[in-house]
Amino acid sequence: MTESFSLTPEAAGPKLDVARKSLELLRTVPELADRYTGHDQPRTLGDLAALPPMMKDDLNTALAHLEPQAQHGATWLFQSGGSTGAPKVGYAPTGFYMAGVHAHWQPLDRDDVFVNAWGAGRMWGAHFLAAGLADLSGCQIIALGSVTKDEYADWLGFFAARKVTAIGGTPSVLRLWFAHARAAGLKLPALRKVLWLGEAWQPQLDQDMAAVAPDARRWGMFGSTETWVVGTNSPDCPDDTFHTLPEQLVHVGPDGLLDFTTLNPEMLNPVLRYRTGDAGLLVDCPCGRPGRAMRVLGRRDSVVQVRGLGLHVDDIIGQVEREPGVARAQVLLTQQQGRATGVDLLLLTAPGAAPEVERIRADLLSSTFTLSTAFLHDPESFQVREVDALISNERTGKTASLVVREES
Ligand SMILES: [Zn+2]
Repeated sequence: MTESFSLTPEAAGPKLDVARKSLELLRTVPELADRYTGHDQPRTLGDLAALPPMMKDDLNTALAHLEPQAQHGATWLFQSGGSTGAPKVGYAPTGFYMAGVHAHWQPLDRDDVFVNAWGAGRMWGAHFLAAGLADLSGCQIIALGSVTKDEYADWLGFFAARKVTAIGGTPSVLRLWFAHARAAGLKLPALRKVLWLGEAWQPQLDQDMAAVAPDARRWGMFGSTETWVVGTNSPDCPDDTFHTLPEQLVHVGPDGLLDFTTLNPEMLNPVLRYRTGDAGLLVDCPCGRPGRAMRVLGRRDSVVQVRGLGLHVDDIIGQVEREPGVARAQVLLTQQQGRATGVDLLLLTAPGAAPEVERIRADLLSSTFTLSTAFLHDPESFQVREVDALISNERTGKTASLVVREES
């Protein structure tokens, strides 16, 4: 079934030696060796599809055993996988494989003044990866990182004065920048390019960009600290569709689950049919660029069980974030011994806005089967609340759509 691969057998075949090397390494990991018993070295895409997929923890287990080291320069350790406890570690060499990305995707050029607003530190990868791309582009870099609530106005003034042409960050971070600029009535007329990576694009950003920086367009990357950059898109592509790189082999498996195999001989993480939890399909991109593009449909793990019924977290978030005045939303599920005691929808409102909280709650309760059925006898257990800040994981800096809290 070669139709379900991002590369043709002719394009992938000569590079499958990298997958064979990854398999050899994985066979040396005591905890993983057994699962590869009876599997031959992949010579074809069909052989590859027959190998067992890897999950997040498998890669961490393998890396703990292998401790790979870069051939040239430093070996960087980054946060990889896991959402609680001590950081799990992924490895990358200096350069972060961005030369291969830059060969196919050049959103920045020498004339750009680029604000790198991805958080730096705490073993996060995106800031350094974006710096690697900017380095190859020869532009000016303002290595900003993350800022606190009170600092936005001053920095936005600085961006305007420096005639900043490009900014990059996760969509959540970009939302904050544009929302603050919009609330302050500040324009960034020189801004042309908005680079993003780390989360799905948020449609509200299009509206905020139109108000703050009418000439700005989005340029997206898709990837993870485990796979590094898998694909990229341009303003002419839908925001959920990415052109995959020739050194990344994407496979659409059962249930639409995507898995990733590196074909880059420099890659330190032995990424072999690695599943991120994202589902997707391979499509022709409407931008007209030939070859298969990957359309990402979101995470399959965004469905959570509430009293025996599946609650589609991303659907609810998507619906609520279209409401006027809602900047971002988050579902907080509270459980006692595994049983849902309540669902809270937390709303981060746009500066100065006042969303219709009670109406939103009533709409959701009547339109969401899971909520109306699960909370039939205690509808007050579903609440919608405005908050000053959503709940983020202090270790990873990520703000997930769903937070589960266990009550004692
Ligand atoms: Zn495209």
